[in-house]
Amino acid sequence: MFRAEARIMPREERTMYFNEDHDALRATVSRFVSRELNPRLDEWEAAAQAPLHDIFKQMGDLGFLGIRYDPAWGGQGLDYWFDTVFLEELGHIQGVGLQGAIADQTHMATPALHEFGSDHLKETWLRPALSGDMVAAIAVTEPDAGSDVSALKTRARKDGDAYVINGSKRFITNGVQADFIVLLARTSDEPGYHAFSLLVVPKDTPGFSVSKKLDKVGWRCSDTAELFFDEARVPAENLIGREGEGFIYQMKQFQHERFAALPMTYVAARDMIDLTVDYIRQRTVFGKPLITRQVLRHRLVDWLTDIECLKQLTYHIVRLKTAGTDATREISMAKLMSGGLARRVSDGCLQMFGGMGYKNETLISRYWRDSRAASIAGGADEVMSDVIARLEGF
Ligand SMILES: Cc1cc2nc3c(=O)[nH]c(=O)nc-3n(C[C@H](O)[C@H](O)[C@H](O)COP(=O)(O)OP(=O)(O)OC[C@H]3O[C@@H](n4cnc5c(N)ncnc54)[C@H](O)[C@@H]3O)c2cc1C
Repeated sequence: MFRAEARIMPREERTMYFNEDHDALRATVSRFVSRELNPRLDEWEAAAQAPLHDIFKQMGDLGFLGIRYDPAWGGQGLDYWFDTVFLEELGHIQGVGLQGAIADQTHMATPALHEFGSDHLKETWLRPALSGDMVAAIAVTEPDAGSDVSALKTRARKDGDAYVINGSKRFITNGVQADFIVLLARTSDEPGYHAFSLLVVPKDTPGFSVSKKLDKVGWRCSDTAELFFDEARVPAENLIGREGEGFIYQMKQFQHERFAALPMTYVAARDMIDLTVDYIRQRTVFGKPLITRQVLRHRLVDWLTDIECLKQLTYHIVRLKTAGTDATREISMAKLMSGGLARRVSDGCLQMFGGMGYKNETLISRYWRDSRAASIAGGADEVMSDVIARLEGF
């Protein structure tokens, strides 16, 4: 059985970007993934849900959930290189659904709360999210608004010292188990991007319900929900930052989400290749191990080359972020590249397994199912292309 282990860095990367402190974090996360998560993935996939409260509590105790966040709220206060190490090791989780569920907590639902939330919101919601005492979710997508976020209809009406929410959300990762939702809702009828706000909605808010748990092709261990709001009343102090700025905050938050996908994707793709090489070394067809076939070896090398390109683009993004430079263009390019890469490698690797690859019990089939979402979730490929085209001025 294939086991995920911390890959030894090429020497130049080890010295250029990572030191012994990064190695220590890498080893700790790697140990956690291989001992606490991977042995139970089959069980969680079958149950169509991983026990996020248990998993996040363990991760919170180990200091994994707030790598870059302010220590004042329970974070580790570390830089983007540590974040990259953490995400690379999450990439070894043998189920992209669980990778997504964890990244939801660390990079999707909490960045805006950390950057723009009041001290009260941080104390009440961010701190327990970082300690693993609460599960968070981000709710943007709706039945009639996915790629076009500005088409969303869920409304938060100001009523005295509260917002009253009506509407619905769809495809919300961790939505079934979440203790609170970070919600993007319309707070004004004015046209333009200043009509939206981000609000924290606690799960026990009267009028808020999980209307459905969705049955998905892949990401089976990740719960994905439809949410419903019927006159759901939350205190006005649950507003993150300023009213009318939620769209802008969410666009920034998307950059964290898309960045998180990158290390997890190139590491998982490399794991798929290792898994496949192990198999085709021992699989003999027409009298020779499959690994001796040049056509297959060249295919593997093409993918390794793409993986290296995505990794180096990611490291470039980390350098840009570290320098405080906007990296939206590069993140969009890398996200676009990563979707295609995940799909190409998982599909090609499954092909090399032949019929064995098409069995549910063979791990590569899970990667194949899971990888399909890489070109849809967090901004579909076509949306990334549109962003890049706009930034290029055409
Ligand atoms: C596994 C998974 C987890 C998710 N988790 C969350 C979550 O936690 N929170 C959340 O809010 N959302 C979540 N989503 C939703 C996700 O963000 C949306 O699915 C995504 O943004 C696409 O929106 P849509 O599905 O409505 O597709 P649509 O917007 O209906 O688009 C359909 C297709 O048309 C393409 N398209 C759209 N516009 C154009 C155009 N102008 N030109 C050419 N093609 C175009 C799209 O790229 C897509 O391929 C998740 C989705 C998945 C699959």
